[in-house]
Amino acid sequence: VNDCALAQAAWPEVSVGSLVIVPIGSVEQHGPHLPLDTDAVIARAVASGAAQELESQSWVAPTLVYGSSGEHQSFPGTCSIGTPVLVDVIVELVRSMRTWADRVVFVNAHGGNVESLSSAITQLREEGHDVAWAACATEDFDLHAGYTETSLMLHIAGDTVRTELAEPGNTAALSEIIETLVREGVRAVSANGILGDPTGASAEKGRSTLESMIADVSALIATGVVGPLGRLERATVPS
Ligand SMILES: [Zn+2]
Repeated sequence: VNDCALAQAAWPEVSVGSLVIVPIGSVEQHGPHLPLDTDAVIARAVASGAAQELESQSWVAPTLVYGSSGEHQSFPGTCSIGTPVLVDVIVELVRSMRTWADRVVFVNAHGGNVESLSSAITQLREEGHDVAWAACATEDFDLHAGYTETSLMLHIAGDTVRTELAEPGNTAALSEIIETLVREGVRAVSANGILGDPTGASAEKGRSTLESMIADVSALIATGVVGPLGRLERATVPS
């Protein structure tokens, strides 16, 4: 049992004034080799790791598994609630949590949720709520179901990875495919749904990537500043 897991707590154990971390992912195609809930699994692992690194008591809420995934809709299995509904879900969840929690931070592992997060959190901050979001980011992140996500999943949930089915997808830079991707969806630029190349992914690379994401997100929660889109950013060190 994870002692930070809000879902497993009984109400008298949840003290008023806590920090709540909400992992947010997606249920969408991740190539022929990764499970549909890949983003949710990664967000959960980063949020749980960050909660354990923080000095102050924090709770990890149940993962918000459904996200905004319209660009993947032509692949079976994709379950998207779309941007406007996701905005409403985030707004109502935070208003509810904030009746007992001091602060709410979303940990996001899916780029398609950024528009909803930015809009909802901007609105909530205007309402006076202490809320922000942080991205599960890494410098060498390839776009979708490629080397980075496959390595992370091999480490976090290796038995869910169909390693023998991992094959290269479209490896072009985002700037080269973004127009078609936005207009026609992922299928128009990648028949297998992969943007990147999972060949050579390893659990060892996944372990080091997860560690750096946890360190990054816990530092952002502890000392980051809220940027214009409600996103936590590193505080710039005065020179
Ligand atoms: Zn993903």
